[in-house]
Amino acid sequence: MSQNKKKVVIIGAGFGGLQVIKTLANDKNFEVLVIDKKNHHLFQPLLYQVATAVLSPADIAIPTRSITTKYKNVKILFGEVTDINFKNKEVKFQNYTESYDYLVMATGAKTSYFGNPQWQNKTLGLKNLKDALAIRRQILLSFEQAELIADYETSKSLMHYVIIGGGPTGVELAGSIAELSHNIIRKDFRNIDSGMTKVTLIEAGPKLLNAFSESSSQFTKKKLESRGVEVLTNSPVLDITDSGVVLKDRTIESKTIIWAAGVEGSDLAKKTSINKDKANRILVDEYCRSIDHNDVFVIGDAANFSKGLNRPLPGVSPVAMQQGRYVAKLIQSIDKGKKTIPFQYFDKGNMATIGRTDAVAEFGALRLKGIIGWFGWLFVHLVYQVGFKNKMSTLISWVWSYLTFRAGSRLIQEEVNDLSVRS
Ligand SMILES: Cc1cc2nc3c(=O)[nH]c(=O)nc-3n(C[C@H](O)[C@H](O)[C@H](O)COP(=O)(O)OP(=O)(O)OC[C@H]3O[C@@H](n4cnc5c(N)ncnc54)[C@H](O)[C@@H]3O)c2cc1C
Repeated sequence: MSQNKKKVVIIGAGFGGLQVIKTLANDKNFEVLVIDKKNHHLFQPLLYQVATAVLSPADIAIPTRSITTKYKNVKILFGEVTDINFKNKEVKFQNYTESYDYLVMATGAKTSYFGNPQWQNKTLGLKNLKDALAIRRQILLSFEQAELIADYETSKSLMHYVIIGGGPTGVELAGSIAELSHNIIRKDFRNIDSGMTKVTLIEAGPKLLNAFSESSSQFTKKKLESRGVEVLTNSPVLDITDSGVVLKDRTIESKTIIWAAGVEGSDLAKKTSINKDKANRILVDEYCRSIDHNDVFVIGDAANFSKGLNRPLPGVSPVAMQQGRYVAKLIQSIDKGKKTIPFQYFDKGNMATIGRTDAVAEFGALRLKGIIGWFGWLFVHLVYQVGFKNKMSTLISWVWSYLTFRAGSRLIQEEVNDLSVRS
């Protein structure tokens, strides 16, 4: 790399990292090195559709290398950064070390079990493609097993799906699993009636979709219930065992428990000596800069940005994307000795889909519910997908499953003897 160019190292090519890359692309003053432990950029908001067999993994993921082909100053390396030497300005990954002038940490978040790590082995999380495929396999396998057993009473816990966490991911999963079992696959089995499937959504707090208004939350609950989902609010989980979920007044027996209750900063933040909050999010100032190091910027889910706010900015993609673009421009300004201005978040609102023809969307005072909200949700999720091919394949899958009531990706990839089944 040339001596007079500044070197920007970006850890993570997710929502935030990608915006840094795109903004610095072909800027002759910078060499950009991107290190990611995944070889693809992932559109996480549609992971639940891979988990419920609506979409295939390749519909929502795109190789990072293919996004950056035209950016001559951008180099991609496939590796997991395990240590950062802030004093020497070096990152370590696999057996390599790279130095930086500016470091952007865009490492995202991981699933949090709120101090109960033992629940990880009893539940299925949803954070990456591997997780989504594990959920898909478990759902499809549980139906196959129930079909073998052919007795409803014995297979009841196989056909009971429990989702913990009533945020957008929990709501979307619950609606989608209900649709899959009650409509899409119902005619495909002979011994069982998949319409007998139970789906329970558990939320510790008083309402679903905490970030939304009371009316959107009530609407969502009513619509989920009309689709056969049992919604339990004010129901903190006390324990999760091999047989099910323990609540204060009952135990729900289930072989498929999905954890959608929370996230914390990625492992890298935990490993490095840098100031962070209790959820492992790195503390940043109004310039998205680590409060410890002037040349280290932290964006998206990895950061705790709360300067001038009552609470940290939420872990959503618009925050990561806006911070990514901001930090790239900030680095360009710093390099040119120009004046810098603090980051300001523009809140574009919230959306969550409940299922076919129903969603809630809030943009300031504007509240959309039902089919209008659903079309809004479809449009936004198509527009923000990365890559034309992915947009088209997602659109085709959606139209096909809407018109035919079928789900295209109901594959169990392993042969039966290769599987270890939760049963
Ligand atoms: C199931 C689900 C549904 C969601 N739905 C929505 C939604 O509807 N709307 C919305 O706005 N947001 C949604 N989100 C949240 C949104 O996806 C995140 O806020 C967004 O991805 C954050 O962007 P980021 O760049 O901070 O992190 P990410 O996009 O997660 O990217 C982090 C990147 O860093 C890489 N990485 C991590 N650690 C290392 C390391 N040590 N070394 C190298 N690479 C590393 C990862 O591989 C990854 O590519 C959802 C999230 C999930 C999990």
